Amino acid sequence: MLRQTFFLASFLGALNLYYAEDIVIQILSGVLLLFSLGISVIWPEPLPPPPPTNLWSEAPEKKEREMKTCSHCGKEVDAKWSMCPYCSKKV
Ligand SMILES: [Zn+2]
Repeated sequence: MLRQTFFLASFLGALNLYYAEDIVIQILSGVLLLFSLGISVIWPEPLPPPPPTNLWSEAPEKKEREMKTCSHCGKEVDAKWSMCPYCSKKV
């Protein structure tokens, strides 16, 4: 929509430039013509709409990680950890 508006503004600027008799108005119309035509050319397209919801993948219910029990305090810790975060002893 903005592109069309700027293109319309540049068209009006060209019309003004053609019909105006005062040199100041002609210069202003020329500036308007170049400015709005340039913007209507380089203005980026808006973002495409987001994909429909049935294409989204479901997030997993919970993270799957292997757990083991600390031999000192009995709490569950990650299987990759070598130190227990609760009692700071070696697992
Ligand atoms: Zn522990």
